[in-house]
Amino acid sequence: MRWTIVRFALTLGMTMLCLAGLMTLTGQQPRSQEANLQVQEQIWAEVNRYVPTIETGVPVDARCEVTAAPAIDAALDTLVETVPHYRPQEIWRRADPSNYGDRVRQDVYGRPVSESLLVVIHETVGPAEGTVHLFQTYHPYDYQQVSYHTIIDQDGTLIHTVPAKNRAYGAGNSEFQGESVKTNPEIAASVNNFAYHISLETPDDGIHEYDSHSGYTDAQYRSLAWLISRTHVAEDRVVFHKDIDRYGERNDPRSFDQALLDNYLKPYQGIRTAYCSLVAKGKGLSASKYPIELN
Ligand SMILES: [Zn+2]
Repeated sequence: MRWTIVRFALTLGMTMLCLAGLMTLTGQQPRSQEANLQVQEQIWAEVNRYVPTIETGVPVDARCEVTAAPAIDAALDTLVETVPHYRPQEIWRRADPSNYGDRVRQDVYGRPVSESLLVVIHETVGPAEGTVHLFQTYHPYDYQQVSYHTIIDQDGTLIHTVPAKNRAYGAGNSEFQGESVKTNPEIAASVNNFAYHISLETPDDGIHEYDSHSGYTDAQYRSLAWLISRTHVAEDRVVFHKDIDRYGERNDPRSFDQALLDNYLKPYQGIRTAYCSLVAKGKGLSASKYPIELN
């Protein structure tokens, strides 16, 4: 009996020693909740300084590997060192309200919608200026109404036309892996309710869907990468209009250089990592700051 007690005391003592040694080795001190929140706020400020988050009101599926998310301090260090300081020009040329609507919370059958954000890439086919003019024209009939959220002109300038929180009419009769929402009994279901539509201005030689098409400018790819990074969506939720079109008629964007986009997206990996760290450790933060559910 006495031996058991001694053995127990020895084991306990060893365990305490081991723990103390481990703490000294790693230099880790238990952090206060307040200190943690402070670092998280710093990360969020750093993310937003160069890559301000787009608030669409649609939940974001960032595919964060929560268990693999690095410690919050490491995420901040990586972010500060790697975040690109590229900032394109941005202007607003708001579409006529007839060409866009609200994002709905339930479909025409009264079912709640649950799809997460999808980025859809298009090309304008005509010049950016003509596209803006079309969107700014009052269109009383459903079949005429059309819009994207943002056009990227040949200089890489972002021309915002529809607020991100609204539903732009960029892809009628469309579906992504079985996901679509019917918002109007008269109109086919589409991805518009959960989509963020970005359109690249077509090069001069590609206008009017002639066979020629010299592709997009370097500035357009850089601005596109920056804009996509601002949404925090996983790569497989960035799609082309031609891939989701149920009419089988759309072929945009033509002459798209995926490798070039990937190349420009790479430097933003730190943003993704930091964002995922916030998702992993974000409980207790003000959820209104984040375009995702934190619980
Ligand atoms: Zn399109």
